[in-house]
Formats: sequence, structure tokens, C-alpha cells
Amino acid sequence: MSFLLFGKTKIPFKLRYSTKAKRLHIKVQPERVEVVAPLKTQRSVIETFVHQNRRWIEKKKTELDEKVRNRPLPHVIPLISGTKIPFRGTLIGLTVFEEGKEKTPQVRHEQDILVTLPRGTTTAGKEATVKKALKAWFLEHLRIEVEKISEHYSRILQARPAKIRFRRQKTRWGSCSSKGSINLNWHLVFVPQPILEYVVVHELCHLRHLNHSPQFWGLVANLIPDYKTRIRWLKEYRPVFPAEFWD
Ligand SMILES: [Zn+2]
Repeated sequence: MSFLLFGKTKIPFKLRYSTKAKRLHIKVQPERVEVVAPLKTQRSVIETFVHQNRRWIEKKKTELDEKVRNRPLPHVIPLISGTKIPFRGTLIGLTVFEEGKEKTPQVRHEQDILVTLPRGTTTAGKEATVKKALKAWFLEHLRIEVEKISEHYSRILQARPAKIRFRRQKTRWGSCSSKGSINLNWHLVFVPQPILEYVVVHELCHLRHLNHSPQFWGLVANLIPDYKTRIRWLKEYRPVFPAEFWD
């Protein structure tokens, strides 16, 4: 793999010599740029050619990225071995084992997320069972992570939430009541750690200021100086699985 630097953007390209190619040409694909060259083309000639076409490459790449981003997601993604599922800001492999010895489905997190279904799970019930087991496991995982974050920042803020609840919230990531109860969207299990941290800290700061006053934001900024970047991430977030999928 070779790299070309255009200002600050680094474009990796793959060079392929072809007996059939009569002249140099460039193929832009979502994951890579391929330069096809007739045999014995000098490296310097290739580099000049790529450099001359850099704007076209960039334009094509942007168009393609846009297309990939706007591609509608399949509504139903089967929860079977080999599927990639969203988890903590990345996609993680799912492996489903059958005929487990336990009476209830078991979930383990190793390199993949491993779900073992109890013996006798019907073919028709498999996916629903995997989904239910995953949801419960996600929630438990999230609860532990949120507790750690909350513990740490509550000490700094000298304020502790009365209760933290997880639920499916359609439009919000979190909320805080005047009684000090915090509600969090359980879909936060799909976002990266820094984003989760920001949402929890945001709600914890409401224990001190139950509004979005400059004082409130000042407090947030004190705890999370780059909070604006994290808010931007949340605004651009698009779920891999449609939210309804998990309902
Ligand atoms: Zn708020």
C-alpha cells in the first residue's frame, strides 16, 4: 500500500501493474483507491499522474463516502453468528452457540460477544432469544459502566443522584428530575466511552444546576473540557441497527 499526502489528507492507494492496461487509470472505491498502470511504468510517472488527479480523487471519494453514509440500513439484520453488532462505539462480532447446558441463555464478552442458547430453543425462537439476552446483557454492562463514571464524578461534584434508571427514550440521551433522579437512554451502550461519560456528567451537573445556564455549562466544561466535540458526535450519531430493532 502506498500513500499520497494531499495537504493533511492521506490517501492510501494500491498500485497494480496490468498487462492489459494501455494507459494509467485510477479506480476509486469506498475503501481504497487503486491505480492501474501498464507494465514498466516508472514510479515517478505514476506519482505525478496521481498528483495531477488528486482533486478528482478527493471529489470521487467524498461522493462515495456520502453514498455509503446515506445508504438505508436493512431493516432486519439477523442476529446470527457472524453478524456484527454495535457495542461501545464499535462493531463487534456475534457468535451464537446452541444446545447449551444452562436453562437460560448465557452471554459472554470475549473477542466477540458469545451467546449460548439453551437446549431446545426452537429455530423460530432463536433470534428473539438472542435479542432478549443481548438486551439484558447490554443493560447490565451499561449499568456497571455508568456506576463507575457516576461514582467518580459524584465525588468531585459533591452531589449524588438519588437514582439512575435506564430506559428507552426516543428523543433524549438522558434527563434529570428535580428530585435528583437520572434517566438514561439504554442505547448509550452503543456509543463510545467518552460520549457515555459526557452524557452521564451532563446529567450529574444538573444535580447542581437544574437548567442550561452559563453556570451549568461552565461546570460541564470544567469536568470535560472537550465536551463540545462530544456533543457534535452525538448529533451526528446514526445507529447501526434502527432503534426500533431492539424494541
Ligand atoms: Zn441538560
